[in-house]
Amino acid sequence: MRRPQTELVRGGLARSPFDETSEAIYLTSGYVYSSAAEAAAAFSGDIERFVYSRYANPTVGMFEERLRLLEGAGAEVCRATASGMSAVNAALMSQLKAGDRIVSSRALFSSCQYIVGEILPRFGVESEFVDGKDLDAWEAALSRGANCVFLETPSNPTMEVVDLRAVSEMAHAAGALVVVDNVFATPVLQRPMELGADIVVYSTTKHVDGQGRCLGGAILCSQQFADDHLTNFLRHTGPAASPFNSWVMLKGLETLDLRVERHCSNALELATFIEGLSGIRRVIYPGLESHPQHALAMQQMAKGGTLIAVEVDGGKEQAFAVLDALRNVDISNNLGDAKSLATHPATTTHQRFSEEERAAVGITDGLIRLSVGLEDVEDLKEDFAQALRI
Ligand SMILES: *Cc1c(COP(=O)(O)O)cnc(C)c1O
Repeated sequence: MRRPQTELVRGGLARSPFDETSEAIYLTSGYVYSSAAEAAAAFSGDIERFVYSRYANPTVGMFEERLRLLEGAGAEVCRATASGMSAVNAALMSQLKAGDRIVSSRALFSSCQYIVGEILPRFGVESEFVDGKDLDAWEAALSRGANCVFLETPSNPTMEVVDLRAVSEMAHAAGALVVVDNVFATPVLQRPMELGADIVVYSTTKHVDGQGRCLGGAILCSQQFADDHLTNFLRHTGPAASPFNSWVMLKGLETLDLRVERHCSNALELATFIEGLSGIRRVIYPGLESHPQHALAMQQMAKGGTLIAVEVDGGKEQAFAVLDALRNVDISNNLGDAKSLATHPATTTHQRFSEEERAAVGITDGLIRLSVGLEDVEDLKEDFAQALRI
């Protein structure tokens, strides 16, 4: 078996008869048949071939295979989707039905929270949120039985870490499948399936693209989950990834490992630097010893990650002033980009949360989420020093 960095460059490559070096973009919605009998055989399943790009497409397929090889053991199937949210939605909706129960960590990206807390209950699925850091809370919720567990680790934006191995064991004992949103860690830093998760979802909009161009998502699962639930759900509901966007993602994978490494080293250095500045209440970064779950984070992640949360003294007013004063960091709710981006979760990504919900996951008015980019870290340090002095 080839090593991950080799798969990121060469995995899934299917050259056309033109022998191109760079993967081809098959920008086509449909396919033609040499005879009516061939079309009939394709539809009856007697032969396997491309029939329609809502089902499969060669460029999308190359991207899916490359990401699958990176995810490693357990990822028998990878399916790309149009966005991260369509991946989360399909991973949950394809398997759940009225009368089922889902247990989820409370610290979620707000659209994920909307699916679990608002949409699923409308279809008769009972959902319960727990403090993802608290194994006793998981145990209590799972003792009432569950069909599915959903979690994000580290969480957006306060970097709460869920013990993947322990929660997966408890979930399986309760009869639940474990779905992990692995966006913050990326497949370079964390492989949830190796720790017991059944299904992994990504917003490839983030680090996989890495340059802020396209939306995309992906679901990784077993062949059985694909056969029992996912394949037909995707075919008939149509959250298909575009071939062009998949090509951008495919090329993004070639540099993912290099970029994530640089994002992480910049993040660690910047987090350490900001921790030493005045006007700071706390810096939350899993790679810092001050993170309350540093040891667990370092057990399940190869590095501390690419995002930092910084709580400034002076609440929202000071948080806004710092954001406005930064010169080499853009104000944006995206993340995983080559450019450093900062956002104020309480008024943007997590505005939809109630005040109590924000308090429960530590999203205070002074909190800034920072996606650390690929700039020279000295410029980022200087920028924070000048922004905090105002
Ligand atoms: C961005 C994000 C999503 C949603 O992905 P889109 O590509 O924007 O639809 C889901 N989960 C997490 C943790 C995210 O950061």
